[in-house]
Amino acid sequence: MKRQECLELDRLDPLAARRQDFELPADVIYLDGNSLGAAPRAVQRRLQSLIRREWGEGLIRSWNEADWFTMPTRVGEKLAPLLGAGPDQVVAADSTSINLYKALVAALRLRPDRHRVIGDAANFPTDLYLLQAACEAVGGRSLERLDAEDIAAAIDGDTAVVALSHVDYRSGQLHDMATISAAVHAAGALVVWDLAHSAGALALALDEDGADFAVGCGYKFLNGGPGAPAFLYVALRHQGGIEPVLPGWMGHANPFAFAPDYEPAPGIARNLCGTPPILSLAALEAALEIWADVDLAALRHKSQALGQLLIERVEEICAGHDLALASPRDPDQRGSQVSFHHPQGYALVQALIGRGVIGDFRDPDIMRFGLAPLYLRYVDVWDAAGHLAEILESGEWRQDSFRSRRTVT
Ligand SMILES: *Cc1c(COP(=O)(O)O)cnc(C)c1O
Repeated sequence: MKRQECLELDRLDPLAARRQDFELPADVIYLDGNSLGAAPRAVQRRLQSLIRREWGEGLIRSWNEADWFTMPTRVGEKLAPLLGAGPDQVVAADSTSINLYKALVAALRLRPDRHRVIGDAANFPTDLYLLQAACEAVGGRSLERLDAEDIAAAIDGDTAVVALSHVDYRSGQLHDMATISAAVHAAGALVVWDLAHSAGALALALDEDGADFAVGCGYKFLNGGPGAPAFLYVALRHQGGIEPVLPGWMGHANPFAFAPDYEPAPGIARNLCGTPPILSLAALEAALEIWADVDLAALRHKSQALGQLLIERVEEICAGHDLALASPRDPDQRGSQVSFHHPQGYALVQALIGRGVIGDFRDPDIMRFGLAPLYLRYVDVWDAAGHLAEILESGEWRQDSFRSRRTVT
């Protein structure tokens, strides 16, 4: 492979035009779209007009006239095709952490007579904290943290809930949703999936794969902006049975009756809690427009090709520098990122950022490179590997400024 071949791949790329939908600095190679997606140009237009017309002129009338009130369910419906979800099962609201807590408590309450709860030991910290908290809140449950590959075999008739991420945030390992969900259901248990690193990265089939509950972030591969609303999926078959753990007025059957007692809305809307963040929802909604033109099979194909290119090129030109692949080599086992171990991973990532090549670092030694196929080019991946090789060769990462830890890594 040569750099020229990357330029040719970019020329033939069916997704190439999508890059124009984003604001991206010319001197940056952005390999962190799995942590904070790039800014879609449509978001700026939408927010400007919302602030000027809907808020500025419409004022409080816009809750009705600009349809603000229905935004959490409306944006949920726009997300549903990306998740492989039929209608009335998705809301855009709150954060992933909060939605996870809602889903976990709901799932535990649907299995009151079972005691075991199984979580993925390598899951993102907030998932582990909230799983523990949900078990304590519901009571009588004991949490076991297992390696993801041991989960299916550990499920039995006393298992209430299994919770795991579809794509591991550190390694990028992709778990088989259909197989794990089937094993969970065969034992009569329920499964809660975290899609933080899969929504917008690959095609999902929540209905077909039998997910019971799922949550995910709006600000990663969905490009909804920093702190964008998250989403919650509840399979239709469970919706009637859920008493929300946070029974706020926005999930009431009739919020503007101002009734003293809570009565859940029919369907997915009962999972809403308080007043929705309209600016953030509008940003996410505008960001989702991009997907109307995206073939998810082409997205996955490009994501896998970018990953193979990064692995091959780094292993070719960075050999002998203590780098070890931390992601599955098989592209079918991997989400849309590639990670490497290196004892000086933090400083190396900082040195890359110093050159405008933005990835991130995850303790203890993981350099993580997100591959967002909507705006990343083959030539970017080629050049990023070249920068990494130069940094390793020159030792420029040894500068003090690259070695002192900042708050956000
Ligand atoms: C990014 C991420 C989160 C973040 O949750 P927030 O509530 O948005 O902070 C949660 N879980 C996983 C697996 C993640 O990757």
